[in-house]
Amino acid sequence: APVTQPTSVKPTLLNTVFSYAEILSLLQGQDDEWLFSRAKLATELEFNQQVYLRGIVEFSNHCRNHCHYCGLRTENRQVTRYRLSNEEILNAVDSIAELGLGTVVLQSGDDFNYSGNRISTLITEIKRHHNLAITLSLGDRKHQELEKWREAGADRYLLKMETFDRALFAQCRPKANFDERIARLNYLKSLGYQTGSGIIVDLPGMTDAILARDIQHLSELQLDMLACGPFIAHHQTPFTTSPNGSALKSHRVSAILRLMNPGANIPATSSLDALDKGAREQALKRGCNVIMPSFTPTKVSGDYSIYPGKNQQQHPAAERLNQVCQQIQRHGLIPSFSRGDSKRTQYVS
Ligand code: SAM
Ligand code: SF4
Repeated sequence: APVTQPTSVKPTLLNTVFSYAEILSLLQGQDDEWLFSRAKLATELEFNQQVYLRGIVEFSNHCRNHCHYCGLRTENRQVTRYRLSNEEILNAVDSIAELGLGTVVLQSGDDFNYSGNRISTLITEIKRHHNLAITLSLGDRKHQELEKWREAGADRYLLKMETFDRALFAQCRPKANFDERIARLNYLKSLGYQTGSGIIVDLPGMTDAILARDIQHLSELQLDMLACGPFIAHHQTPFTTSPNGSALKSHRVSAILRLMNPGANIPATSSLDALDKGAREQALKRGCNVIMPSFTPTKVSGDYSIYPGKNQQQHPAAERLNQVCQQIQRHGLIPSFSRGDSKRTQYVS
């Protein structure tokens, strides 16, 4: 879509349109210094040095899917499965609101045991008691359910493609439907959700060529949220012997995405820290502007084991939030408790 420059926005914040060859060369580290400094500048100008905080509640680790990379895949019999009750979920949301955060993210495996109506009830309850934006990340649910949840007040939906390469998608997500997942993303947009997608950097079988095309596809979709994190091998999955991804490459991806999508929210994902302590906060200087501390009750949070190293911290949520705020401030940035909506539409004519 053509891009116009809003009068209030400085010229440096225009979407950069990189060619495929340019993306490939940046991914290979040809110009890290330039890339990271431009991404840092663009992020700071766009968000006034603020980092949006989201409280995430991972309310179920049951999943009907077979993703070869994920520890929650249905074939993994070694994980202790849990489902939180509505009351437990709402209690976690209460603590997010009490600590003053502006957004709750509800995430789970693709667990259809939570009916469409039950999720609607949760959304209604949250909206009745709190002034919180609600992001859903519940996987491949029916269009009709997505409609109902939007009507009930859900604001945003995150559905990562993981890769836009059809053959690699089929290798990593057996039985999942590529076309339906893309159609779902477009449908979410048409319903007025702030819509997000993303990729796993260095998925087994992903080449730089595939990754460069993934970045192009992701940017063409004109999304509000863009998530990229490195692949981490889980020993109870078919990808157990595959090498872990690279935090540096994931940083390059977030930096390129920032320049191509200046107004999008880009989280510094927890998989960065699982791989390399400190890589998540470093991502805040390389294009990312969101951090999502977990508010999943500690009695189950360790079982949300999508990859090793996830949810290892067992301190109370308030303490974890405090730590995250300190990390943000250490970099001269400001933890933001606002809703933190996407600014993408400012760039679309
Ligand atoms: N079930 C929903 C779905 O797949 O859309 C949402 C929950 S799923 C656990 C959230 C994200 O975890 C996925 O989109 C995927 O990118 C990420 N993930 C799963 N396994 C991973 C791994 N081994 N390394 C890095 N990210 C992983
Ligand atoms: Fe299930 Fe999501 Fe994990 Fe795939 S990535 S197995 S859909 S929880």
